[in-house]
Amino acid sequence: MNVMKKKSKKVNCPLCQNLAFHEMSSNDLMFKKNKIYDYYFCRSCDLTFINPLPSLIEIKDFYPDTYMVFEPARLKKISTIEKIRLQAKHGYKNLINKGYYLFNLLGFCLLKSREHIDYVENGKFLDIGCGNGSRLIKMRNLGWEVTGVELNKKAFNECINHNLNVFNCTLETTKFEDNFFDVVYMSHLVEHLANPYEIFEIVNRILKPNGLLYIKTPNRNSLGRKIFGKYWYANDIPRHLFLFSKKSLVNVFKKLNMNLEYYGQDTTPKIFLNSVDYLFKLTKPSKKNKIFRIFSKLYVLPAKVLQLGDENFFIFKKN
Ligand SMILES: [Zn+2]
Repeated sequence: MNVMKKKSKKVNCPLCQNLAFHEMSSNDLMFKKNKIYDYYFCRSCDLTFINPLPSLIEIKDFYPDTYMVFEPARLKKISTIEKIRLQAKHGYKNLINKGYYLFNLLGFCLLKSREHIDYVENGKFLDIGCGNGSRLIKMRNLGWEVTGVELNKKAFNECINHNLNVFNCTLETTKFEDNFFDVVYMSHLVEHLANPYEIFEIVNRILKPNGLLYIKTPNRNSLGRKIFGKYWYANDIPRHLFLFSKKSLVNVFKKLNMNLEYYGQDTTPKIFLNSVDYLFKLTKPSKKNKIFRIFSKLYVLPAKVLQLGDENFFIFKKN
C-alpha cells in the first residue's frame, strides 16, 4: 500500500470506536526486520495503536529469546535511608532498630516516595508480568503475601527457584477470587497486551474495594517521541501494540469506576541514547560517545520540567 493510500485509510479505535488516523509506519528496529507495521492515532482517546492487530501467533514471534534475557533475581538490600523512610512514612514496622533518636528525626524530615507501597496488614500483592521475581521478593521481605503471573518460562523458573507463588500463564486463565488483592502491579506490561481492556476488567474484579493498581508504561506524548518520532526507543515496534497517555489511561479506568490516585513521570538518559542509535543507525552505540552522553543528560531536565517524560506512572484506586 502506498503512503497516500495509507494516510487516507481510516480505522476505528479499539477503545472508543471513533475514527482514528494513520500516525506512523515502521519496521522492527530492534531486530532489523523488513515487515512494516502501521500505527493509528485516536484523537478522542489520545491513544496510539497498531492496526491491524497481529494474531497471537505473530505476537509470539515478536519475542525471540534474545528480547529479554531474564537474569537471576538480584536480592537488592534495602538501604538504611529507605528503611527509615518506609518505617516513618509508609507504615512499615521494625525495619530499623528502635530508639535511635536521630533515625526518628531523619524519618520525620524525609518525604513519602510514590515508588513505595504503603504497608497493609496481611496485605496481598500481585505482580502481573513479574519477570524474575525481584519485586515479589522485595515485597515478601517487607511482609506482604505475594503472587505473580509470568508468561516467560525462564523467568517463571527463576521465580520458582525463589519459592515464589507464581503462575506461568496469562491473567485471563488464572482464577483469582473477587476482591482479593490489596495491590496489583503492572510494570511495562499494558502496552504489550492485545486485549488491555479485558485485563483491566479482571484487575478491577480481583482488587479489593480501595485496592490500588500501579501501572508503568511509555508515554505517547513524551518529549522523546516528539523529537525522535518513529525512532523513539520506547515505541518498541511492533511489540508495543498500544501507547497510552495520561488522558487515555485515565479515561479507560473511569469507565471501570477507578479513580486516579497519583500520576507521575520519569525520564532517563538511556531512552535518549537508544533512540539516537536507531535514528543514526549507529554501529558504535551512542552511550560510548561523550557528546551524546552530555546531550542525553541535557534532555532529561526539560523532559521533566515540561512534564513530558518517557515513562508514565499511574496509581488507580478501586472504588
Ligand atoms: Zn478512541
